Amino acid sequence: MLANLIGGKWREPRGCDSVPLFNPASGEVIGQAPLSSAADVAEAAAAAARAFAGWAATPVMERTRLMFTYKAVLERHFEELAAIVTRNHGKTLEEARGEVRRGIEMVDFACGAPTLLQGRTLRSVSTAIDQDYYRYPLGVVGGIVPFNFPVMIPLWMFPLAVMAGNTFVLKPSERTPLAAVRLAELFAEAGFPDGVLNLVHGAADTVKALLAAPEVRAVSFVGSEPAARHVYQEAARHTKRVQAAGGAKNHIFVLPDADLELAIPAIMNSAFGNAGERCLAGSVAVGVGAASAHLTERLEQSARRLRLGPGDQPGVDFGPLVADDHRRRVLGHIERAADQGARVVLDGRSAEYVQRPGFFVGPTILDQVTPAMAAGREEIFGPVLSVAQVGSVREAIDLVNRLPLGNMAAVFTSSGRAARQFRDEVECGMIGINVGVAQPLAFYPFSGWKSSFYGDLHLQGSDGVDFYTRKKIVVSRW
Ligand code: NAD
Repeated sequence: MLANLIGGKWREPRGCDSVPLFNPASGEVIGQAPLSSAADVAEAAAAAARAFAGWAATPVMERTRLMFTYKAVLERHFEELAAIVTRNHGKTLEEARGEVRRGIEMVDFACGAPTLLQGRTLRSVSTAIDQDYYRYPLGVVGGIVPFNFPVMIPLWMFPLAVMAGNTFVLKPSERTPLAAVRLAELFAEAGFPDGVLNLVHGAADTVKALLAAPEVRAVSFVGSEPAARHVYQEAARHTKRVQAAGGAKNHIFVLPDADLELAIPAIMNSAFGNAGERCLAGSVAVGVGAASAHLTERLEQSARRLRLGPGDQPGVDFGPLVADDHRRRVLGHIERAADQGARVVLDGRSAEYVQRPGFFVGPTILDQVTPAMAAGREEIFGPVLSVAQVGSVREAIDLVNRLPLGNMAAVFTSSGRAARQFRDEVECGMIGINVGVAQPLAFYPFSGWKSSFYGDLHLQGSDGVDFYTRKKIVVSRW
């Protein structure tokens, strides 16, 4: 059974239920994650609150030195972290390395604290009067993360939060908590004081307790849309600051003037990379006008070449899904799409995939998908690419804008004019132009729109700095 980290001590939660952890490539049980009680959460929040005053008073340069040390420690354990991700999540080692790198880039960004945390000053706003603002930490911040990026998403949160002088309680995903445990151990190894980062395992009830804890002043959440909406509403009910990133249904449009040599591999990577378990996954490829003619065929040919297997084996393009219940949900999506009239061009339900040990689903392509079908509207979060057709760029933009979710949309074209229209008129917070996965790096906000994000200030970048600090304005006359 995994332990919680509370005030610098690893402690087993008291008398609670647990859920099994799997190696998704084999289906074998590799551990148990406790579902911590409200009392465990209360202890973690209290430990974080006790550590707050000392940590907030620690000079920025000292905090920064510790973060540089953390960066070095993470680099030393880079391969180990990637291997943990592959073992507990299932993605390929190459994908896991990519995720660890993106996560460490958030640590790099947080090391810029002496610049990022600066306030502003304007002298002589009136006769002999100056105005300044200073940034202050909030107190205890709670972080709740999804299963799909077990290193990167915790690192979106706690490095920046603690650099701003806050203390933190992290609630990892109950499906992939192993990497978070290692991140916390390495954080202590870097020399951060006890109680600055605390970790409590659990699921929805543990989150409920975290949202209710009076010491917790702000909540960062990443996960599915219903959970994001719920966390946003609950955190607001408890008068906490909140940022809640939710689900996605990302469309990738191919215009007749697109370079298909670029577009097809990019769509493959977007749809099937990470087994489709990515909030930036391209879920629907849409041929615009004449581009529809051979699009499905080209995509099918490429998808047939994808190699599926355990993520730790060389030459594998994508691995299994995270859990058997998730695999069954994805298989159900394929079945429903077929029932609703989609043509199953490539079927990941075939025996060669689903009868292996582990939680595999093969690459799947559904053709003639419309927004009236669930496959055209709902997030599937698996290796399933739908293909649709529209007549014009206008119709493409309208198709995306009618969807409630607005995380990412992408367009492949050689027309600057079409790309610009797409950029300006599509109501999604992340846009790819001849790019299949429009991932903002650490210094830009991870900018979901509409129901893909609840709150004002996003994770990462200057939004992250603003979220984890509050400003104090000083008006002085001398
Ligand atoms: P999930 O919503 O099931 O769980 C996310 C976290 O919330 C977990 O820690 C879980 O324990 C907790 N949780 C679950 N239900 C809850 C509830 N009712 N109340 C409070 N907490 C709850 O999501 P998941 O399956 O772990 O992750 C996949 C989802 O995350 C997908 O929808 C994906 O698009 C989304 N995601 C979004 C982003 C983004 O930046 N927008 C990034 C990664 C993943």
